[in-house]
Amino acid sequence: MLRGSCLCGGIRYEINGKLYDALNCHCSMCRKAQGAAFRSRAKKHSAEFRLLCGEELLTFFASSPGNHRGFCRVCGSPILSKFDDDPSVFGLPLGGLDDDPGIRPQMHVFIASKAPWFAITDDLAQFAELPSPTISARSGSAPFPDLKS
Ligand SMILES: [Zn+2]
Ligand SMILES: [Zn+2]
Repeated sequence: MLRGSCLCGGIRYEINGKLYDALNCHCSMCRKAQGAAFRSRAKKHSAEFRLLCGEELLTFFASSPGNHRGFCRVCGSPILSKFDDDPSVFGLPLGGLDDDPGIRPQMHVFIASKAPWFAITDDLAQFAELPSPTISARSGSAPFPDLKS
């Protein structure tokens, strides 16, 4: 069981099962939405996500067609992302978690959009955009089948 919440505490949630596909996304939308150099996020089967409170505060913004970023309308914390093409999956910003999910981001993606004021100093793989296995993994269960570069 993992717990998460927003900054003001109005939204709290819990998660059963495991997160997968953890990565750091440097795309301009994630940078804006997080107010940070990048967004660390994982994927989650939506059926294993449960809102404990604050459903009335959870507000969605479609940052691109079919991609709905949910946030707390009181404090602005990002909570989850929904995808029209696969309602069985949520995207989850790791920063919202109150517990250690165990997994760690495995790569940097969209570094072609990376903030000029941030330098990547770790040894994780870097991709100019989103590597295609990640996209297909949204609807499957195998994370990053052959990403070693
Ligand atoms: Zn809040
Ligand atoms: Zn992004």
